[in-house]
Amino acid sequence: MTDTASQHGMDHILAWQLITEILKKDLPKESYLTWFRIIKPLSLEGEILSLQVPSRFYFDWIESHYSKHLKRAISSSLGEGYEISFIVGTDDKMPDSDKVAEKPPRRREILHKTSTFSTNLCPQYSFDNFVEGDCNRFARAAAASIVERPGKTPFNPLLLYGGSGLGKTHLLHAIGNSIVERGITNKVLYVTSEEFTSDFIKGIQSGTSASFNKTYRNVDVLLLDDVHFFMAKEKTQEEFFHTFNSLHYAAKQLVFSSDRPPRELEGFDIRLMSRLQWGLVSELRTPEYETRLAILKKRALETNIELPDDVAHLLATHIRDNVRSLNGALIQILAQSSLIKREVTLELAREVIKNSANRTTQSVSVERIVEVTAREFDIPSDLIRSKTRKKNVSHARQVSMYLSTELTKLTLKAIGLHFGGRDHATVIHAREIIRELMKSDPEEADLVERLQRKLDLNGA
Ligand code: ADP
Ligand code: MG
Repeated sequence: MTDTASQHGMDHILAWQLITEILKKDLPKESYLTWFRIIKPLSLEGEILSLQVPSRFYFDWIESHYSKHLKRAISSSLGEGYEISFIVGTDDKMPDSDKVAEKPPRRREILHKTSTFSTNLCPQYSFDNFVEGDCNRFARAAAASIVERPGKTPFNPLLLYGGSGLGKTHLLHAIGNSIVERGITNKVLYVTSEEFTSDFIKGIQSGTSASFNKTYRNVDVLLLDDVHFFMAKEKTQEEFFHTFNSLHYAAKQLVFSSDRPPRELEGFDIRLMSRLQWGLVSELRTPEYETRLAILKKRALETNIELPDDVAHLLATHIRDNVRSLNGALIQILAQSSLIKREVTLELAREVIKNSANRTTQSVSVERIVEVTAREFDIPSDLIRSKTRKKNVSHARQVSMYLSTELTKLTLKAIGLHFGGRDHATVIHAREIIRELMKSDPEEADLVERLQRKLDLNGA
């Protein structure tokens, strides 16, 4: 890009406005409001845009969590080559007193460099900050094992699957970062399936398919996120199939993620489905209590939040669906405690839990659970609520009751009422039976997880 924003006489206020418009679209509203709304543009000198942040903490947080978003927003609004200089200060205090830019200049460079980094990797995702638990141990080990010899292990491709917010994207980046850091190769490319699709379409429309191929077939490691996005997109699947073949043939490493196991990728070409399973398929499951607690504690430590044990316990007990919601809860706590200096108490935690429940689980109702389960068992929903004791009907009923205890915030009594007025002891009994079955029978575990995923998707 030859013409720059400053040549057009653009000032810092307008520049920042353009950037924030993109950030608003790119980030969850909460994150934008918490971290960016408070930033004040100070000046635009040449290609350096100076921004004021209220504290050093903001700078660190933005740099470690949002530098990629920020760089992307800058390059698409102002063009390439811009740098941001963060200055700590408040309106009544002159910013000069504590210039972040006075630290070794490296920091500023980091922000700058990430945008031109062609691997698309986010540096904040590593193996070190990925908390291990029963839910993810195997997937993590598989991911780590390809780092040393990408393309040369039996795990090619590696397919990680699991519900939203369970760490798929994190692991994909961790693999890439680790390979680049160790100097094994830097021809690593992380891309979402959505980006892959749009690049592919752009390539066709503009007659630059050759450059598409060059980008995608010239890598040593392709990390392709969310391949379920290809469902029912035949042309893209076909292209993906060719890319797959070309890379696999050349012993390049392929790593994919999907929100469901390959056999459930509806509308997927059969050959593609089979290729996805050539290497290793590994599942990421919902974290159990201990892992949830460990994740909270680790995050709290990283972000310098004092998290009392009782608060951590309360959060880990109630926020169960995925790691993203755990992080979301911590961000809310952090925002409250650092911005308005609220103490991290059980009361604050309860508020946060309430907010998070409103956002995530309310959308799943018992009706919905019964409906989805009935469809899976191929029986009418009413039968589940009836008194029938036929074996497969009572099995479906127990599964629905179990799911209702897991996915809704209703009391056992209320759940019983949804099932033709059964009492709470029946619900407890059903829950225990299914829990036991899931432990002893992998098919049962599979069934329940499949339903959970369907409900997740429908609720979203
Ligand atoms: P997915 O791609 O499966 O939807 P992500 O990888 O985006 O999920 O994870 C959501 C958030 O949770 C990210 O901030 C990620 O760093 C964090 N996360 C997920 N799993 C873990 C884990 N085991 N340890 C630490 N952080 C995790
Ligand atoms: Mg993801």
